[in-house]
Amino acid sequence: MSRFWSPVVHGLTPYVPGEQPKLDNLVKLNTNENPYPPSPRVLAAIQTELAGGGERLRLYPDPTGLALRQAIGQSFGLASEQVFVGNGSDEVLAHTFLGLLKHDRPLLFPDITYSFYPVYCGLYGIDYATVPLDDNFQIRVDDYLARGPQGAGAVIFPNPNAPTGRALPLAEIARLAAGLPDCPIVIDEAYVDFGAESAAALINRHPNLLVVHTLSKSRSLAGLRVGFALGQRELIDGLVRVKDSFNSYPLDRLALVGAAAAMADQAWFEDTRQRVIASREKLAANLAALGFQVLPSAANFLFARHPGQDAAELAAALRSRSIIVRHFKAPRIDQFLRITVGTEAQCAALIAALDAIVA
Ligand SMILES: *Cc1c(COP(=O)(O)O)cnc(C)c1O
Repeated sequence: MSRFWSPVVHGLTPYVPGEQPKLDNLVKLNTNENPYPPSPRVLAAIQTELAGGGERLRLYPDPTGLALRQAIGQSFGLASEQVFVGNGSDEVLAHTFLGLLKHDRPLLFPDITYSFYPVYCGLYGIDYATVPLDDNFQIRVDDYLARGPQGAGAVIFPNPNAPTGRALPLAEIARLAAGLPDCPIVIDEAYVDFGAESAAALINRHPNLLVVHTLSKSRSLAGLRVGFALGQRELIDGLVRVKDSFNSYPLDRLALVGAAAAMADQAWFEDTRQRVIASREKLAANLAALGFQVLPSAANFLFARHPGQDAAELAAALRSRSIIVRHFKAPRIDQFLRITVGTEAQCAALIAALDAIVA
């Protein structure tokens, strides 16, 4: 508390990111980072950008990120005008909340979802209402459509959802976008590359649909901070107006070239995501064999509970063995653990530790 704060700061409830401990030899399965390194082409591009003793760093980067937007557009079959880039998808989402989701009627999102959404609502003074997931932790599109245009100003959710990992089929997203044609519909596809279908394919048919992606998970670049949004030009132009009222240069030179190189290396992307998917399936089976109930996941994490073990105690017991996973003290999910899919060796270490704890 400080009398020097602006009044709005007193009322904020900031997001709490998963911890990034400074310890070595930790099995870190708590923040859904990719266990594999980024494409070697990313490093080569950054090194090229640093050539000449860093002479290029003297100059501001391209404020529009055109080369990166072209690389992203190319991989989705979209024009660069249909791509917006930002400093991590969290920044893209922040601009989206302010630029597209603040209306007279409430913004709708699931009761169990990415916990940053209510934080942005608090920051920007956006009225919201949560829509419960069903008993199987699935999003029901009909529950959103039932609110009707009078009850919904806009809709946002991740697909696959976080922290459940459950995915909706593309046809359901299309039904939602068509059913609420006057509401912006934002699909946060942070995890889509691990097993769901991207709604990017629907953009040219739905002027109200915005799809948000990140390079933090499936491209192994959480440390570079690059995210993007895909949508028809009017939506993208709205985001550009917000961005240019906030920070004209959100992406630095190294991030711009590194991200473009990552988008261009399709083979590396395919290889690492297939490895993560294969490890996820094996980990899910091993957890089930230990008595865990594991939700079907289309993401790079699993959401699981053990009927005979308290989740907070399990997380603490794992931590004492230098393994960290995420536990949310929230209604309906406080007996679950969210476990990031690691390397084969990390997954094996987790299973060995759980085997000892549960036995
Ligand atoms: C990780 C994550 C993000 C944020 O990603 P960054 O690009 O690293 O900011 C956004 N949405 C969801 C659902 C996520 O899990």
